[in-house]
Amino acid sequence: MKITDLHIYEVDASTRGNWLFVVIDTDSGIQGVGEASQSGNDELVRVCLRQLAERIEGADPTQPEVVWELTAGASDVFSGKSGRVGATAMSAIDQAMWDIAGKAADLPAWRLLGGRRRERVRCYANLNRGTTDRSPEGFARQAQAAVAAGFRAVKATPFDEVRAAHQDRDDLWPDVEKGLARLHATREAIGGDIDLLVDCHCRFDLPLALRVAEAVKPLDLFWFEEAVPRDQIKANAHITAHSGQITAGGESFFGRAEFERYVKEQDVHILMPDVKHAGGITECRRIAHQAQVHQISVAPHSPAGPVSTMAGVHVAATITNFLILEWAFGEVPWRGDLLKPAEMVEDGYLAVPSTPGLGFELDAKVVAKHAVATGVAQ
Ligand SMILES: [Mg+2]
Repeated sequence: MKITDLHIYEVDASTRGNWLFVVIDTDSGIQGVGEASQSGNDELVRVCLRQLAERIEGADPTQPEVVWELTAGASDVFSGKSGRVGATAMSAIDQAMWDIAGKAADLPAWRLLGGRRRERVRCYANLNRGTTDRSPEGFARQAQAAVAAGFRAVKATPFDEVRAAHQDRDDLWPDVEKGLARLHATREAIGGDIDLLVDCHCRFDLPLALRVAEAVKPLDLFWFEEAVPRDQIKANAHITAHSGQITAGGESFFGRAEFERYVKEQDVHILMPDVKHAGGITECRRIAHQAQVHQISVAPHSPAGPVSTMAGVHVAATITNFLILEWAFGEVPWRGDLLKPAEMVEDGYLAVPSTPGLGFELDAKVVAKHAVATGVAQ
């Protein structure tokens, strides 16, 4: 089997950015799907995908790791030359390769990856992008809606007013308190039995992070995510060792080499590789294995569309140190309908599909209905 073409579809999904889906054709008629959203530059990722398409044309898609080596080299992912954009492009292609390889073998991708350790994957609702009312009441309402939809874990990102650039201000604490008020409202709305996760979006320095970690102790957090910039190796390790919080992070890294520093220094208790940026299904599993050696759990980062989320499901199903998968709550009501069969979260879980490949097709009609002006099939 040979790769013959690559198409990009872009849907208008979110106030925070579109979702980009990549469909790869083969000479057998089998197609594979991947997702290249949130690279930071949709135009550049399109260019990069085109370059990679030329590179892999004629390659055998039923050998995903061999194609991965072609794309990782072509986009210089591990030397950092093409950065997040290149990593996102090659990650989308890798997702599509596992889809094609599974479909060609008439087996679900997880079976080619060594087998599933679980039949369903626990998800948490990321409330951030869907919470347009940023008052404490708005946070509470959105959290209640997620719990009503069956989620037993929700993530809030409450520290809107705190900016890293403001760290020389001596009146930061009132801004932190605005975030704390949102968190207290959220905890009150969901009650004590639902897990509450907090993402700090790297907005603090070390002393402030330790103070906030102390202040949120009564909220009994499931995790405390990225309090300081994620590349601050020693500061993150200090928070993990001394704050009394379970820490999570690493969503923007790509490739084993970047994650290696993190896991060796025990920077987090929970690692968050993103199947869209870290190097696809192939590299995410390698990173998970690397984390396991250091007693670190894996919670794949996945705040985008249903294609990459389902690719994340195959990673989650096949690693032993999986903890929980992110699901972007409350963006567009037609999200699930982009896939056939439709994506369904039940009681806060996504089922691990038993159908071939990643387990779905893109619904062309739904994609076309929500395509952005420049993003029709090409
Ligand atoms: Mg985050």
